[in-house]
Amino acid sequence: MKKQVAVLPGDGIGQEVMNGALEVLKAVEDHYGHQFKVVQADIGGVAIDHHGTPLPKETLEACKQSDAVLLGAVGGPKWNDVPVEIRPEKGLLGIRKELGLFGNLRPIKTFEALVDASPLKQSVVQGVDFIIVRELTGGLYFGEPRERRGKNQEVAVDTLRYEKKEIEKVVRKAFELASKRRKKLTSVDKANVLESSRMWREVVDQIAPEYPDVEVEHLLVDVAAMKLIYQPNQFDVMVTENMFGDILSDEASMLTGSLGMLPSASLREDDFGLYEPVHGSAPDIAGKGQANPLGMVLSVAMMLRHSFGMKEEADMVEAAVEEILRTGARTADLAGNQIVPVSKTKEMIDLVVEQMKPNYAMSGILAAYL
Ligand code: NAD
Repeated sequence: MKKQVAVLPGDGIGQEVMNGALEVLKAVEDHYGHQFKVVQADIGGVAIDHHGTPLPKETLEACKQSDAVLLGAVGGPKWNDVPVEIRPEKGLLGIRKELGLFGNLRPIKTFEALVDASPLKQSVVQGVDFIIVRELTGGLYFGEPRERRGKNQEVAVDTLRYEKKEIEKVVRKAFELASKRRKKLTSVDKANVLESSRMWREVVDQIAPEYPDVEVEHLLVDVAAMKLIYQPNQFDVMVTENMFGDILSDEASMLTGSLGMLPSASLREDDFGLYEPVHGSAPDIAGKGQANPLGMVLSVAMMLRHSFGMKEEADMVEAAVEEILRTGARTADLAGNQIVPVSKTKEMIDLVVEQMKPNYAMSGILAAYL
């Protein structure tokens, strides 16, 4: 299969972790005979330096002409003083809007080898494996009016607005995902208080009959926030509106214990998507070769699965990550206070790529039989 991928490394550790993504893509090419044409472009601070804007036209064009986008991270202290309308983060908001990315997927999965890294008890986090689907382009963050009023500006107004069709798109995406997983969908709202939530619930119930094999549960957002901490194992796919999703996905990310491990995807209605690790540009460790590249590597696996329909290839990348962790490989963020050998970014990438080579898979299989 031939695919074009727009690659936007961005700032700070963005470039360092993106090297991992590119090596893993190459390993998938070698293994399966696919061809990935990589088109690199600037975004964020580096784009401000080169083009005077965080989202240059050329970058947007490269993304639009590609089948998917990989993004590293943007921002850093160097651009703290630039005018607010051209801050690096504006590049991110801009690209999501311009590409029509309406739904954000955040898989929350604890790796067996890393259960100790979670701040919660092992018995709570063991086996956690679910996805949060967050509506990304509507709700409180975009509704109008949004203003300060009154003689002394003593009134502030934000507007939570949704149209049915916006909810339908993201809810349908969540049902589709659930139907391919453990067939349980949890829809999160605040229907006891908010009109928009009552419509959200109505839409979920209207679409449910199209997916008869998916069990549907409605949870109020406050109850969902509690259950994420004491019963995270009960979730398979969770779907919710923009602000609830923003908060719950950050809460859930703490279950796994490390920001450096988390991938994400922002999707359009067709197969196109933008894939990026959840973490930022980590200026405190940038340039030191210490960054954990696995969140970026797992973002590549998501791209293979969701945009290219390459399930086997995605499974292979994820299995390689799982295996190197099982054998004890750790970047500094994963080692915590444990006294263990610590791998640098490049070493971790090499281990993943080695693990993906056919002879390694064979030796694993042989080992299982011996
Ligand atoms: P951050 O995610 O960059 O870093 C938070 C902490 O986690 C730091 O101590 C960092 O060293 C550590 N960390 C993050 N990723 C890691 C990795 N892969 N391996 C090891 N350790 C890792 O968040 P921040 O410090 O709040 O923000 C720094 C900059 O990044 C800011 O300019 C912010 O606006 C930007 N940011 C960008 C994105 C994005 O591009 N999507 C997301 C969040 C923050």
